Parts: sequence; structure tokens; C-alpha cells
Amino acid sequence: MSRDTVIVLKSINYSEADKVLIVFGKRMGKFALFAKSIRKINSKNRGNIQTLNISDISFYEGKGLPVLTESQLIYAPDTDILKNRVEDIKRVLDIMTKILQENDPNEKVFNMLRSVCKKNFDIESINRFRAIFLKEMGYLSDFSVCNMCGSKKDLKYMDLGSFALLCKNCYSKAGKSYKLGDNPYVEKNFTQALDIYIKRVIEEI
Ligand SMILES: [Zn+2]
Repeated sequence: MSRDTVIVLKSINYSEADKVLIVFGKRMGKFALFAKSIRKINSKNRGNIQTLNISDISFYEGKGLPVLTESQLIYAPDTDILKNRVEDIKRVLDIMTKILQENDPNEKVFNMLRSVCKKNFDIESINRFRAIFLKEMGYLSDFSVCNMCGSKKDLKYMDLGSFALLCKNCYSKAGKSYKLGDNPYVEKNFTQALDIYIKRVIEEI
């Protein structure tokens, strides 16, 4: 029997009573899990493995997909928040389901995603998470230097094409850029620029 703490990323109906779950485990990384009879009303695991729940699970690894045996719920996001923040939640789930490789554990990404869940998917924590995720996966340049000259000073502009920072001497030479505010992570520009960049990354995978 194996154990892990997982965040449920996706849940796919499979036959009348079963589901296949895509989960992100702290120890195992992303993997698919077979949840037998989970759709039955009396299933004891049923309430613990909704999308974006965090649970401790036990599973059996044999031939084929690992099979869920037991689960214990650690955290479930507020259902009203899940209903009202569909767009923002999709921003998180898209990168986890489409960019993250299977069986590639990353504790830093796991801990950050857990904290995004606990912060009710506010846009600041989502954008911070997405930027760090892209950096961890090797899709983002170094945010501590100007993407053109390498300077560490006056990094006040965002290059929209490459989602990289530019200094005040370089930004006018870039194609399209915008000036960052005091807290870039909450700005609409930042969210949109990140959306566009992530879409491109997904298309190129
Ligand atoms: Zn520069």
C-alpha cells in the first residue's frame, strides 16, 4: 500500500460507478488514480476527492492505474468560491493539467498550490503561483534581471511578447511592454499578459 497527500486536479467519470482522478501528490507528483465505486452514494471516499480537495490517500499499485483504497479529507475549498471563481480556478487547473508532466514531484509547487487553495484563489496568489510554476518548469526567464541588458536596476516594465522584465533604458526598444505598478501580481495587465504567455506555452508543448 502506498500513501500520499494529494490535491485533486480533475475527475473523470468512468463507467456507472467509477471515476478516474488526476491528482497532484506531494511525494508522487501528478498521476492518474482509479477510484472504484466512488460515484455510489454510500462510498466513504466520495466527499474527499472532489476537484481541488486536499486529502491524504492510500492506494494500491498493481497492474494498470493505482487504485484508491482509503482517503481522509484535509481541506475542501468553499463551494461558493468554487462556483463564483470559475475563470480564476481554470487559470490554475490549466497549467496543472496541461503543462505539468506526470510523475514529476515538486514539493515547492505542491506547497504553493495548497496555499492558493487555502487563500480562496485570490488573483494575487494565483498569479504568484503561475509565475513560480513557469519558472520551476523552465518556461520563464529570470525575473531579477532585465531581459535585454541584464541590468538589475529599475526593472519597471513587462515585455508582453516574452513575459520578461525590462529596465527603464530598454523598454522602448521592445515591441510591446507596459509599466508595472506597486503590486504587479494584482494588476489586470499582468493577469492578461500571463494568460497570453501560458496559452502560447501550452500550444507549443
Ligand atoms: Zn535593460
